[in-house]
Amino acid sequence: MRLRCEVEVLSQLLPSCGLQGRGRAARALVSLGRPPGGGGGGVYLMVCTARDRTGARYKVQQNVERLFTRFVEQGKATVRLREPAVDLRLSKANASDLKTFLSALRLAHQGTDAGVLPLSPLVPAKNSEVEKPKTKMIITSRRDYPLTKSFPYSLEHLQTSYCKLARVDTRVLCLKKLRKLDLSHNHIKQLPATLGDLVCLQELDLHDNHLESFSGALCCSSLQKSLQFLDLSQNRLRALPLEFCELRGLVNVKLDDNELVRLPCRVGQLSRLRFLSAARNKLPFLPSDFRRLSLENLDLFGNPFEQPNPLVPNIQLKIPLTLLECAARATINHRIPYGCHLLPSHLCEDLGVAKTCQCGSACLSSFIQITVTMNLHHVAHTVVLVDNMGGTDAPILCYFCSLHCYSQFLDRHLQSNG
Ligand SMILES: [Zn+2]
Repeated sequence: MRLRCEVEVLSQLLPSCGLQGRGRAARALVSLGRPPGGGGGGVYLMVCTARDRTGARYKVQQNVERLFTRFVEQGKATVRLREPAVDLRLSKANASDLKTFLSALRLAHQGTDAGVLPLSPLVPAKNSEVEKPKTKMIITSRRDYPLTKSFPYSLEHLQTSYCKLARVDTRVLCLKKLRKLDLSHNHIKQLPATLGDLVCLQELDLHDNHLESFSGALCCSSLQKSLQFLDLSQNRLRALPLEFCELRGLVNVKLDDNELVRLPCRVGQLSRLRFLSAARNKLPFLPSDFRRLSLENLDLFGNPFEQPNPLVPNIQLKIPLTLLECAARATINHRIPYGCHLLPSHLCEDLGVAKTCQCGSACLSSFIQITVTMNLHHVAHTVVLVDNMGGTDAPILCYFCSLHCYSQFLDRHLQSNG
């Protein structure tokens, strides 16, 4: 019978030791068995820890003073021995294993025939049995990167930076407990879709790699719920997929130093987003949905923002409206439920990126588009200046469903500008 738990050995004679001993609980493998060769014939309890892998042995027969089992359901119990007079405080055990162990211990104490007891050989514990499972590993040079050995399965935080990795190691994709994965400063060009199988992943750092895309499949994986921090800065991204905005858990996104020519049009769906930086990209303007963000910190420095001119509209109106446009507008304006089981998927996609006119109604492919100036303080508490001139304004797209809506806007605009 072997039990994995934590053990603290306290002396009964010096109660003060108990206090001093607090927090000294060590991961242990506790075995109940007979020494090799049967020396003495009795049953022993052996406690192996990382510091003492060969283990301390305690006689059991007629030697258990008392068992404290009040918290056995929580995996805790204390074994009080007579000789030596110590308390073995067991904790962090599996409750049902602990119960089985204690009843075997009780029987052994009563001198039950060893033949019926679930005894184990009293052998030293292996390192892996008593060492704390490794949860963090940081590798910052190619020299230290494990080539043949596998990564500990228990890892929750893994950093492999400056390792010249060209792809994400498949061994890393098996680490299902990972919460934090830092692959910064490598040469990764593409991300495997299976990265989305890391169901606990909260932080993903891909800063300074060679990424040319961030796949839509990743955005539709379990990362949707788990991912909170994403650093894609210093890559070669020109665009992000529409599905990017399905990563609803995102709180902090870094996109600096890429070649982004636009931000995803549904960016306003990222309702938990608080920190966004997309400095030194190629953004000419912001998507209209950007207005819905509510950020603490925003950095859009060094983008080639164009000068908004509401008087120069991009007119895409189709008059009369096509049947498709009419039907699509009606579907959205009347909130008629739709889905891929009812409509061809390309129509669903089109409906998903419908634009919203200033009047509140929807438009798809028939619209007037202009850019207007928005002060970034409308969406963020702290704004990094967008240029060296000290500006915090940026152009944002604005749509109109009809000439009527546009002319109403123009009237207001001209009035307010004198
Ligand atoms: Zn309108």
